[in-house]
Amino acid sequence: MKLKTVKEASVKNKRVLVRVDYNVSLDNNHNVTDNTRITQTLPTLKFLLKNAAKIILVSHLGRPKDKNEKKYSLTNIANILGSYLDKKVELVKNINNIPNARIVMLENIRFFPGEKANDAELARQLAQLADIYVNDAFGTAHRAHASVVGIAEYLPAYAGLLLLKEIRLITTALNSSEGSLTIVIGGAKTPEKIRAIGTLLDKANNILVGGAIANTFLSTWGIPTGASLVDYEMSEMARQVIWMATQSNAALILPDDVVVSNEDRSRKASTLSYRSVPGHLAIFDIGPKARQKYKKKIINSDRVIWNGPMGLFEDKRYATGTSSILQAMTKNSGTTIIGGGDTLTAIKDKSIIGKITHVSTGGGALLEFLEKGTLPGIEIVKCNG
Ligand code: ADP
Ligand code: MG
Repeated sequence: MKLKTVKEASVKNKRVLVRVDYNVSLDNNHNVTDNTRITQTLPTLKFLLKNAAKIILVSHLGRPKDKNEKKYSLTNIANILGSYLDKKVELVKNINNIPNARIVMLENIRFFPGEKANDAELARQLAQLADIYVNDAFGTAHRAHASVVGIAEYLPAYAGLLLLKEIRLITTALNSSEGSLTIVIGGAKTPEKIRAIGTLLDKANNILVGGAIANTFLSTWGIPTGASLVDYEMSEMARQVIWMATQSNAALILPDDVVVSNEDRSRKASTLSYRSVPGHLAIFDIGPKARQKYKKKIINSDRVIWNGPMGLFEDKRYATGTSSILQAMTKNSGTTIIGGGDTLTAIKDKSIIGKITHVSTGGGALLEFLEKGTLPGIEIVKCNG
């Protein structure tokens, strides 16, 4: 896949609209809990500033209904970015009144009607602000929204350095013909994840499954899962994926044992075989045997890609499966990639991140990229022919 990159664009004295993904997680006081998505865009921004471009940043944050939801203002984020760049980053609320500065940030693009609908009028309005469009929002590249895809109809479009890095690292991990590939999938977003597993069977040696996704596979196979979270609507697709696994070289691995409690988790956690979950109990994590097996597979693989927690990690009693996956990944000496909003939230000790080859800024985007090998926000920066 050949892409037009920001390095090839002539940006000197040009107005460059950069779509970034600063959709960070916020705590109860609306403070940013993790700056990774901000710091990861610094290479592109520093490159543009060094080459005398004027930057107009565009991002979304959360799912605001309208611009009255102050919680979703980018004010804090503009300040945080400013401190990294050692520059004032002015936040602009009015799209028709962009101040003449080296770098400004437009207020949450989802405050503007038409973003999600990929409205042509909004795309045109955004395009009028700039001479060049740079997409550096890997985490949003699976969305055909006005500021991601629509705008490329009206401006020359280039890939930012983060977008390029994500594509290069993930593609290499996925398609390298050397050594073995293990994919770890957990969490609860069942449809996307089960679909991705289906296509990854062709590439992976092992697919280790945990979380509510594992519950759905177990239940589909006719194994009683009691009161566990199961996506029954996905049973047919899960059944198909199990059949595809029998025809592929990949091992689709479900947990041997599970950690259970009653539905409201008031009962003490206990471990059971996957085969013996009674009707009144629910699975909240993978068990010790599964942890050992998964760890071994991860450590012995050359490449590992992980998306989705193994259990209901928000409750400490069910976070062990997830932390053991993380631990195994830090012990792997090959290539390790982690992505997913909740997966990253589950990593409390941020110093561990240095031991991971790449922490993707994509959750949904990572999954869709694994499944399809491209995304709408990547297609628009492809070289034609
Ligand atoms: P990510 O954001 O990393 O892609 P998801 O959004 O798919 O992950 O899923 C994360 C959620 O899945 C977490 O809130 C976690 O509590 C939940 N989860 C994982 N395993 C279970 C389980 N066994 N039962 C209920 N919820 C689970
Ligand atoms: Mg999530």
